[in-house]
Amino acid sequence: MSKAVNHDIIRIARESRGLTQGYLSERLSVTQGKVSKMESGLLGVSDDMIDRLSIVLNYPKDFFYFNDQVYGHGISMIGELYYRKRKNVPDKVLDKISARINIRRMHLIRLLRAIEIKNNLFETFEFNEYNGNVERVARALRATWLLPKGPVKNLTKTIEDAGGIVIEFDFETKTIDATSQWFPDLPPLFFINVNSPADRLRFSLAHELGHVVMHKICKPDLEIMEKEANNFASEFLMPRTDISKSLDNISLPQIANLKPYWRVSMAALLHRAYDLKKITPRQYQYFWMQMGKAGYRTKEPPEFDIPKETPSLLREIIDTYRHKLGYTSKELSLLLGLHEQEIMSIYFDNPKPHGLTVVK
Ligand SMILES: [Zn+2]
Repeated sequence: MSKAVNHDIIRIARESRGLTQGYLSERLSVTQGKVSKMESGLLGVSDDMIDRLSIVLNYPKDFFYFNDQVYGHGISMIGELYYRKRKNVPDKVLDKISARINIRRMHLIRLLRAIEIKNNLFETFEFNEYNGNVERVARALRATWLLPKGPVKNLTKTIEDAGGIVIEFDFETKTIDATSQWFPDLPPLFFINVNSPADRLRFSLAHELGHVVMHKICKPDLEIMEKEANNFASEFLMPRTDISKSLDNISLPQIANLKPYWRVSMAALLHRAYDLKKITPRQYQYFWMQMGKAGYRTKEPPEFDIPKETPSLLREIIDTYRHKLGYTSKELSLLLGLHEQEIMSIYFDNPKPHGLTVVK
């Protein structure tokens, strides 16, 4: 069987490196039109060209022949960007994130061929059955997953125990904390920003969980969809009946004291108090102003910091390949279509935040 070049892979390989068609064409000494046509499948791609692409884009040649489908941004990413109105995130950055997520998905498809994730407790909830009541959906999921009352001690573990995969990911921008995608034939994938603080990450992860179980189909009104995901996150992390009493007559220092217990930001607690009508709009504004004055809106007081949750499922999968299935890094490189050095930096090292990369 002769191998066919996957034109979409040329595009995501380029985008994953943050390169424009123009830059790539210069590096290949061809016209930009040629690159464009190669990516759209209008032009055949010679073996020699694959050799050159492989060098310039730093992927093994085999990668360009993977026949995987390539997907677009997905509901969650579109929602995150709309909601935050962060129009200053350039398309190039988004395309790079999408391309890298596509590639990580392709890795998981291959990795999960030999490994079965036992639990699959994810299901989508029909809104109509809950009269469109998001809090009821959150409670239903807590009940389905047999969560005890009160705070969710470790949300990452809870999601992984249910069969979702949480992936530490360097978004190379601070504007996105997390995104999620539920591709065909895979468990739901949650990508969390290695550079985001722990309290914000937990809320964002719960927000993504809301998208996964409620928004299999994108809603025409993105703002409603985002609000639903936030309300879901609030009820999932701070159930109304469990938190209600402790928000009575609340003060700012008390909000700070609740943070280590509920493991959410002071901002999320303040918002919850307002949602549950424990404080008046005036009080809410006053507290919010106080938070701003103390600088807590950008950085909450470190003495109330909560520990960062560490995902483990993906690490276990890689460990199984290395230690049980006896894969060398060279063999993993062949399996995943990624050079050994990159395999090691993504999958073997402890993921560390390494600051922001300047977009050129
Ligand atoms: Zn969202």
